[in-house]
Parts: sequence; C-alpha cells; structure tokens
Amino acid sequence: ELKTASTYVSNVYDTVVKRNPNETEFLQAVKEIFDSLIPVFAKNPHYMKNGILERISEPERLITFRVPWVDDQGTVHVNRGFRVQFSSAIGPYKGGLRFHPSVNASIIKFLGFEQIFKNSLTGQPIGGGKGGSDFDPKGKSDAEVMRFTQSFMTELSRYIGPDLDIPAGDIGVGAREIGYLFGQYKRLRGGYEAGVLTGKGLGYGGSLARTEATGYGTVYFVEEMLKDKGLSFKGSTVVVSGSGNVSIYAMEKAAQYGAKVVACSDSNGYIYDPNGIDLKTVKKLKEVERKRISDYIIDHPEAEYYEDCKTIWTVPCDIALPCATQNEIDKVSAGILVSNGVIAVGEGANMPSTLEAISVYAANQILFAPAKAANAGGVAVSALEMAQNSARISWTFEEVDEKLHQIMINIYRESVNAADEYGCSGNLLAGANIAGFIKVADAMIVQGII
Ligand code: GLU
Repeated sequence: ELKTASTYVSNVYDTVVKRNPNETEFLQAVKEIFDSLIPVFAKNPHYMKNGILERISEPERLITFRVPWVDDQGTVHVNRGFRVQFSSAIGPYKGGLRFHPSVNASIIKFLGFEQIFKNSLTGQPIGGGKGGSDFDPKGKSDAEVMRFTQSFMTELSRYIGPDLDIPAGDIGVGAREIGYLFGQYKRLRGGYEAGVLTGKGLGYGGSLARTEATGYGTVYFVEEMLKDKGLSFKGSTVVVSGSGNVSIYAMEKAAQYGAKVVACSDSNGYIYDPNGIDLKTVKKLKEVERKRISDYIIDHPEAEYYEDCKTIWTVPCDIALPCATQNEIDKVSAGILVSNGVIAVGEGANMPSTLEAISVYAANQILFAPAKAANAGGVAVSALEMAQNSARISWTFEEVDEKLHQIMINIYRESVNAADEYGCSGNLLAGANIAGFIKVADAMIVQGII
C-alpha cells in the first residue's frame, strides 16, 4: 500500500508543479505536507478515491486586485492586492494579511495552504485563507498607510464577511492597519459587523491576549515538547529572531519561564545582549516609536549590534525560536545551530526553516516544533475573538490565556498521537500535518465533490 500511496502523492505533486511553475514557496509548503501524508493514504485508500489531494492543493479561489493610492507628495502609486480562499471545508476562510514588498501569488498561496492545516489543528471551526499586498509600509507616513489600507479594503470588502472570510494581521499588518481596515469596511457595509476581522483593538471588539497569543502559544508548545523529554525553558539560553508581534511575546513568555533571551533581530540586523534582552526597550522601539532594532544599543551600551540579520543563528543557544519570516534558517544556519549545541527549534514564523534545514534537525535529533503547530496560537485566539464577537461578550485575559494554553497542549498531544499512529513516532512535523489533514479530508468527503 505504501508504494501505491507514494506513487499517488508524487503524481499529484507533479501536477501541482506543472500548474504552479516557479512558485517556489508554495511548492515547498506543498511538498512538505504531501511527503508526510504518504502513510495516511496507505492506511486510508478512500482518500485517494475521493481526490482529496488534487482538490486540497488547488485554492477554491485566488483573487488579485489593483490597489491605487496617493502619497503625501501627490504621486499616484499602484500595488497589487491578493486574497486566497483556500479551503472552506471546516469553516469560513480564516487567515491574516501580509503587507511586504516580497508578497506575490506564491507567498500568499504557501501561507494560505499552511493555514488550512494550522487552523484545523486548533480545533476551532475555521477554514484556510490568506491575503496581502506588495505594499511596503516601511518609511510610509501614517496618512499614507491609512490611504493605502482604505483602498485595499475598498476592493477586499467585496469578498469577505463574518461568516465568509475573516482576515487578521500578519507581517506589516498590526493594530494600526486593522483599525483602518475595520473603519473602511464598516463604512462600506453600513453596519457594525465586528466579526469580520480579528486582531481588533480592545475598545472595539478585540480580544484580550490576542496580541500575545502567537508568541505565548509558541512557547507553550515548545515547553510541552521539552517537558516530554524532562527538559524546560528554565535556565536555558534562547535566541529569538524578529522583533515584531510574534517575537516580542515569545521572548516575554520564555523569560517568564526562566529562560535568558540573548538575541533578537529585524530585517536590518540583530542585537546580542549578554545580560538578556530588555523587553521594555524592544517594545518601546517597535510598538511605539516604529524604529529599528539597532537603536537598542543607545539605551543598552553593553549590547552589541550586528548588521546582518541572518547571522543571528551563529549566536550559541539551547533553544532557537525563529519568529521572523519564511526560509530564514537554511541548511548552513541549521548546521551552525547544531554545532553550537542547540537542543530545540520552535517555529513562531511561518515556514522559517527550509526543507534542508529540517533534514539537518532530524539527522541530529534536534527537537523540532513545526510552525503550523507551534504558531497556531495566534489564529486560535482569533477564533476565540470571533466567538466573543458572536456572543457579544468579552472574556478576561486569564480566561483567554488559559484556553490558549490548553489549545497548545492539545495540538502537541494530537501531533504526537498522529505520529505514533502512522508509524513516524517522534516526528512532530509529520504528526501535525497528519492530524491537521485528517479533519479537513473527512469534512471534504462528507460534503461531496466540490
Ligand atoms: N497571521 C497569523 C498566522 O499566520 C494569524 C492569522 C489569523 O489570526 O487569522 O496564523
């Protein structure tokens, strides 16, 4: 059966390659999932008969649109907007929006594809989607960001709704952008549909602990994985890439668990602080002043700044938490981490390790918490935000945090169990992919060929 399953998977993969030429990030995400699913098809041949893989790898819909806007000098600019509505098998499309110059169809599709399985793992009723634009918020004024964002929503609003498709933030889309997006959507709809976006401000329908959720969730997941081996964050040295929303709250929770976080980064470079990163300074720089991480050394002369964000992985650590962006750890960086004695890698970003880096972890028995499980806390709390909006209630910080913690523990256990059941014990990547897939596949079967 294994041979039939593996032939089926590689045939479908070939079709996906032909249909999506040059979409390297999307094909990377597809390959990673497909390879993990071979034992599932071997054990459950009816998935093959129902064409599950053929269907799940083709988005239900991919929307691209023009986003014209005027800068402060009066010059007209045009960016491209995207929304991929990948799978609605288990709930309305759900996933963030990314504003970054690298955004293209391949990146949006890889993110949307990952989101299907991640959202399924949370146990919440949400399907997979993603969107964004190649707009670069860096260096733009507040007024420019507002005009761009309003223009983006003017078009996006045709395709979304609280029971249809619910965007949120991702890289380049935070509290400020969600505010402008919500304002524009409300104005166009002429009604207060709070549940159309998540990651909203606390004063207008947001959920407590949503800001912290992705970073905290990553640390909850990794702590669970460490605990299984008799280890813990306590007393460990940690390196966390990035300095955005995911990174900041991963650093905060790791420090609360007794770790010393010695380095973090932005796209220009990284800081190393042997005394442990002072989060107050990072939060002030990144959340309030929108400055570069290099300014950290103004307040902390004992720290060092290096102008190359990739070399952050040369800083020796016990636990590495990549929380910046896709493919930030390649084979070489993974090798350096291993030779410096890393024991665990926990992914807060989406697909931060290349397929080769993942092979390096496996070959060296590094504990590996894969993104779609380890960073699912953000979207999980987004689903809790939707629930609160529907019920017109708001839970306390402690209530949401407690639910988040339990969800992360459940995701860990389900991933471990699925790996055991399908003959890949200890492989959390395979376990997470399998557990996320099965729920979606079963829902697709009972809903017929659509
Ligand atoms: N962008 C986040 C992710 O990658 C969150 C998405 C959401 O909350 O909808 O999962």
